[in-house]
This record gives sequence, C-alpha cells and structure tokens, in this order.
Amino acid sequence: MTHPPRHLADLSLAERRETVAGLGQKPFRADQLSRHFFARYTDRAEEMTDLPAALRSELAGELLPSLLSADKDLSCDNGATRKWLWRLFDGAMVETVLMKYPDRVTMCVSSQAGCGMGCPFCATGQAGLTRNLSTAEIVSQVVAGEKLLAGEGGRVSNIVFMGMGEPLANYKNVVAAVRRLSAPVPEGLGISQRSLTVSTVGLVPAIRKLTAEGLTARLALSLHAPDDELRDELVPVNQRWKVAEALDAAWEYAEATGRRVSIEYALIRDINDQPWRADLLGSLLAGRLAHVNLIPLNPTPGSKWTASRPGVTDEFVERIAAHGVAVTVRDTRGQEIDGACGQLAATVTGRSVGPASRRGARKNLPIA
Ligand code: SAH
Ligand code: SF4
Repeated sequence: MTHPPRHLADLSLAERRETVAGLGQKPFRADQLSRHFFARYTDRAEEMTDLPAALRSELAGELLPSLLSADKDLSCDNGATRKWLWRLFDGAMVETVLMKYPDRVTMCVSSQAGCGMGCPFCATGQAGLTRNLSTAEIVSQVVAGEKLLAGEGGRVSNIVFMGMGEPLANYKNVVAAVRRLSAPVPEGLGISQRSLTVSTVGLVPAIRKLTAEGLTARLALSLHAPDDELRDELVPVNQRWKVAEALDAAWEYAEATGRRVSIEYALIRDINDQPWRADLLGSLLAGRLAHVNLIPLNPTPGSKWTASRPGVTDEFVERIAAHGVAVTVRDTRGQEIDGACGQLAATVTGRSVGPASRRGARKNLPIA
C-alpha cells in the first residue's frame, strides 16, 4: 500500500454518507461515526454504543482506521509542553507539539514526513522528503491533542503548520485539512479558521493559489533574510522565488484576508543578525499588514550555527520596531524534548543524533 488507508477525515460529510450507503447502511451512520471522531475523539469501535454492535467494527474498520501510533510521548515545562512522535502506517515518522499557555493551547502539526526544501539550518530539511501526509493524518494529530485536553476540560485554540514539512508542497491535503479542522461538527473539528496558521518557505504560485481559496487562516512566511544573496543560501527556494516576489505574494494574501502576515525570522549568530539587516527588514515591512516573529535558532546537531546573543537580539527587535513594525521573539519552549522543527524524528530515525546545548537565557514570549 502506498497511500495511507482511507479515513473519514479525508472525505467530506457527503462523501462519508455515500461511502456508508455503498456499504449497504443508512447514511446517517456516517454522521454518528463523524461525531465519535470529531466530538468524542475516539476511533474505538467498542466505545460507539449508539451504533448496533454488529455494525460498529465494520464501519469503524472502513472509515476510522488508526493512522497514528505514538512511538514516543514526551512532556516538559511541568506538563505544559507535550510532544508526540508518531509512527505512520508505512513506518514514516512525524511529530506534533502541544503547548499550553494560561489563555490558550497551541498545537504545532506536521504536513509532510520530512521536507524537500533543504533549508540548511533545519533538522527536517537535512533528511529530505519521505512523503506527503494525507488529510486525515494531519487532522488526526489535532484530534490526538483534543483527546488529551478533553480529559482536563480544555480545547485546542490555535493550530500552526510549523511541524515537519512544507505545507504548500502538500497543497491539496493541507487545504483540505484546514477546511476539515474548521468545519463544524460533524463535518469537522469546529476550530475557527482564524486560529490556524499556514507557514510557508515562500512557494509563490502556491501562495497565490491559497489566496484564491477564500480562507481566513493566517499566513506565515519564513523569510530569515531580507536580501537575496543571503536568503539564496538559508532558504534555497529563494533561488527560484526572490524576497520581493515572496513578499508581494504575502501582501496579496494579507489584503485578500485582511489578516496580518507573520514574517518568521530565525536569528542566527553573525549570519543574519546584523543591524543593517534589521533595518532593511524593517524598511521592507513598514506600512504593511505584517508582524515579525523572531525565532532564536535552535541549533541542529553538527551545525556550525547557533542562536544570536541576547544583546544582538534586543537590538534587532528595536531596529524593526523603529520602523513601526510589530515584532516579538518566539517562545523557545519544549527544548528539552527537542520541541523544534524536525528534531526528535531526526534523532529517532538515526539521521542525526545528539542534542546540542540549547539552554541559553532567552525571552519567553508568545508564538503568535
Ligand atoms: N516548512 C514551513 C513550515 C515548517 S518549519 C516553513 O519553513 O515555514 C516551521 C518554522 O520553523 C519555519 O519558520 C522554519 O524556518 C523554522 N525553523 C526550522 N528550523 C529551525 C531551527 N533550527 N531553529 C529555529 N527555527 C527553525
Ligand atoms: Fe522544510 Fe520549513 Fe525546514 Fe525549510 S524550514 S527545510 S521549508 S520544514
């Protein structure tokens, strides 16, 4: 089998009803199954007591195959940060992170196993692309978080596509996941689209296509350098779509949705953290619907790069703010459990090993 097994989260509610009818059952059984998954967060046939016993395992077997099995389930920050490493049906590994804050819960989900974009500072990028995740494999990561929180009376409030993979390189399944996550129960999970953030390395045609979808999700653009010379190196797709083109596409998205684009910028010591680059970045963004999210680099094993010094980070923030541009430094939570992009999966699959020291004194500011 090359595709993950079919799951109801891959299908619209109408398609689920057709599938159930095709199995010789009443279409409303599809709604019941959907409620179990999207409102009670279960795919276990024995828990579906509103379905005739004889039907439960047949329907659950057809439409609710178990897609994720937890290879590791880690927590840190006194339980406020949780990370799963999932094994998929074919052995591929992906990770999901859940972060609890006093006023919200943010989940960071993966859209691909691995990534083909090759950014040299990113652990996921080093391993290359294994495959795209199905819509249901993406949605199931969030359902796992909801299931955990349901026991504590909580809910997922924000979802960021900032785990493994380039979401816009898995366009169809990611857009379907955005729709499924935001559709009301029983069609989907009922999380406001406005609380979803799709992060991209800057695939310009895909950003344009996304603009035309009429979504209200936020867009994050991983810029990391304001000039083409450095961005060509840090973000290899820049050799295809330049800084100016990526920003133009981002502004079109912002205008169409009325939502500020989040400009992601990993601060790498002595590489992209010079005052002149802060000034250039500020001038590119001044007057735009933008917010800068500075990420202290999480060093990948074997890399010569490390995070910027705190004083340098502070000056970078000030110079951007001086252009009237909103800027925050991202929370660096979950570092003891390799909470950043791709780290844990890379360790387990043996492609790279060993935590570099990542415990500098850093600011603790919200992600979004
Ligand atoms: N592929 C998408 C989304 C996943 S990466 C993208 O690149 O936008 C999510 C974010 O983590 C991106 O902004 C990415 O640049 C950043 N990131 C990757 N590796 C990092 C590292 N080692 N330290 C800090 N940020 C990193
Ligand atoms: Fe892929 Fe994003 Fe990592 Fe670049 S930063 S390699 S696009 S996951």
